[in-house]
Amino acid sequence: MANLKVYNIALKGLAIGKHDFDYQIGKQFFEYFDGGIAGDGRVEVKLELEKRSALMVLWFHVKGTVNIQCDRCLDLFDQPVESESKVFVKYGEEKFEEGDDVIWVSPGETHISIAKLIYDFIILSIPIKHVHPDDAHGKSLCNPEMLKRLNLLSVEVEPEEESAETDSRWDELKKLLDNK
Ligand SMILES: [Zn+2]
Repeated sequence: MANLKVYNIALKGLAIGKHDFDYQIGKQFFEYFDGGIAGDGRVEVKLELEKRSALMVLWFHVKGTVNIQCDRCLDLFDQPVESESKVFVKYGEEKFEEGDDVIWVSPGETHISIAKLIYDFIILSIPIKHVHPDDAHGKSLCNPEMLKRLNLLSVEVEPEEESAETDSRWDELKKLLDNK
């Protein structure tokens, strides 16, 4: 079970000014949130927090790799991720609609948890296409055995369909020729 308490930022006693936080995120963190996309990863998160009199500004710098499944060969691979995001924390009993980048905290709150925020930033920085990257020579890093099998499958299926089509076309042509 992941210990998410380290992702709680104490609000009481936090001095006005800038504060830096560092987090090393690993397997337990991904397993805790397990959204089915990334079950493992190595991500470094740097948080720069600036407390002002009426609000706080949080800059999240996310950099690392997440272990996801390749859509092409189905093997797991390490997808690099990187993002920078800014979030405002404002105090108020009422939560006003101000977009996704504002978190409302009631004045009596002792801490905020940023674990889910960090998870969302990581997941959002994964490209839509989950495919092994190419190596330095432009060759796909997909599992070669799996690609071979996929290629064999497509080779086995396609020619039969094509030849069947060709045959029927020949038949039509023959009929025309025979009629003449
Ligand atoms: Zn692949």
